[in-house]
Amino acid sequence: MDLFTSKAKLRRFSSPLAVVAGTLTGGGYARQLITCGVPALLTIGCALAVFAVVHTAVGTLLEWLCGEKYRCKAPGCGFHVRLPGTDAGESRRWQEIAAAHPTHDHAHHP
Ligand SMILES: [Zn+2]
Repeated sequence: MDLFTSKAKLRRFSSPLAVVAGTLTGGGYARQLITCGVPALLTIGCALAVFAVVHTAVGTLLEWLCGEKYRCKAPGCGFHVRLPGTDAGESRRWQEIAAAHPTHDHAHHP
C-alpha cells in the first residue's frame, strides 16, 4: 500500500519533473553557447533539442518507474503489459487481462 502511494505521488510529479529537468539542462547549454559567441538562432535550436531529449528521457524513465507491469503467468510466455497510473480496481482487471490473452505461445511458433 505504501509503495502504491509513493508511486502515485511520483507519477503525479513526473510530468513537471521532466519539464524542469529539460529546462535546466537546455538552459545550461544555452547559457554556455551564448557566452561562447554562438549565434542566437543556433543556440535556441540546440537548447530546444537538448530540452526535448532530456524531457523525453526523464519522462520515459519516470513512467517506467511508476508504471505497473502485468505478466502472463503461463510457463514460457513472455506476454506483459506495462501501464502508467492504474488504481487498485484497474490493477485487478489488468491482471486478469494479462492472464487471459489469447495466444500464450505466439513467440515460439512462427
Ligand atoms: Zn501468455
